[in-house]
Amino acid sequence: MEQLFLIRYGELALKGENRDLFKKRLKNNIKIKLKGLRTEIYDKLSRLYIRCDWADKDRIAEVLSNTFGIVGYSETYKTAKNMDQIEQAVIRLCDKVRETNPGSRFRITVKRIDKNFELNSYQLASRLGNLILDHCSGLEVNLNNYDWEISCEIREAAYIYGPKMASQKGLPVGVQGRGLLLLSGGIDSPVAGYLMAKRGLAVSVVYFNTPPFTSDKALQKVKDLSRALFKFLPSMRLFVVPFTQTQLKIKEAVKRGEVTLVSRACMMSIASLLAVNNGFKCLVTGESLGQVASQTLESIHFTGSFAGLPVFRPLIGLDKEEIITVAKRIGTYDISILPYDDCCTVFAPVHPLIRPEFTSMRGIFDSIGILPVLNEAVSKTEMVVIKKTEPGF
Ligand code: ATP
Ligand code: MG
Repeated sequence: MEQLFLIRYGELALKGENRDLFKKRLKNNIKIKLKGLRTEIYDKLSRLYIRCDWADKDRIAEVLSNTFGIVGYSETYKTAKNMDQIEQAVIRLCDKVRETNPGSRFRITVKRIDKNFELNSYQLASRLGNLILDHCSGLEVNLNNYDWEISCEIREAAYIYGPKMASQKGLPVGVQGRGLLLLSGGIDSPVAGYLMAKRGLAVSVVYFNTPPFTSDKALQKVKDLSRALFKFLPSMRLFVVPFTQTQLKIKEAVKRGEVTLVSRACMMSIASLLAVNNGFKCLVTGESLGQVASQTLESIHFTGSFAGLPVFRPLIGLDKEEIITVAKRIGTYDISILPYDDCCTVFAPVHPLIRPEFTSMRGIFDSIGILPVLNEAVSKTEMVVIKKTEPGF
């Protein structure tokens, strides 16, 4: 009898020809996250399995919980297809499950893929159910209202497992290419990054840094947010753009009410250059329609026109409350609400332009001669590869 992890990957099963590619990517993503641990991942009949040193099981479970492309996983006993061994595994599992779930109602679920097995599904389920009833007193079978469940699958071997742990669903990160997320210190952009990663985008991040108007703590906050997002990604890079000169130039050259819009346009422009230079195929922002002056339809039309690549805005139709709910669930909210100013609050006008006229705003942008400043910001951008144990992170 052997103990291993059984992994279910729902959406992948639907992807026809791409399936092998997706499966390979998922396996690879898991492997990267488990680097340093002794593990072996193999696949069989629409499932992945991980053999490992069982002392590492909590660390592995943590990785599986945070991996896109996985629907769920279970700690599993694998045995030969003979009743003695299957029964031994069921008893062992039953004792283990009951340590954490004292409920008395249970059910047995059987899946018999190997039709040559000596018992049919019904016979096997009732035999295992009776075994548990004999083993522990005070229990009852309840197929609909159960406190816990033991599953037994007869495949090329027998697999016996208890609770099904939920994971992140979605697609394996990387199957939809690479994208660059504009990550501020706010609540929204980390959520946008998470949602795009869920659809298979390998997300890296760019932050526009404005020292001394923003502090080291603001930068640290962005690093902490990157780290929180990295939990869901096999790899990630952080680009820190020195944005102070750009911001000062904007402040001196345009009317106060136009500062935020022109600043956002510059961010789009710089992010596009960085993306092209580094092989990213799209940009991602945390914009949500109408949330602030720079996110009205007219504002988004203007700022978005400086992007040379597709821009994804996965929060566009969400309310703040909905965004906050996701931020709390994925562990970015508590970092985002730390009170360090970002450049937007420092330079924000009291009365920002809400409905810019496209052509005249483009004209203003072209007239201020800011392109050399933007190019310099790109050339001075610093890049950090985020790793599990990055010092200073
Ligand atoms: P967030 O909560 O993500 O900061 P927000 O509601 O504060 O969003 P804005 O400040 O208008 O909205 O920013 C809109 C989007 O522009 C952000 O979601 C982010 O993608 C990008 N952005 C804003 N400031 C920065 C910055 N300093 N560095 C990188 N991206 C930024
Ligand atoms: Mg913000």
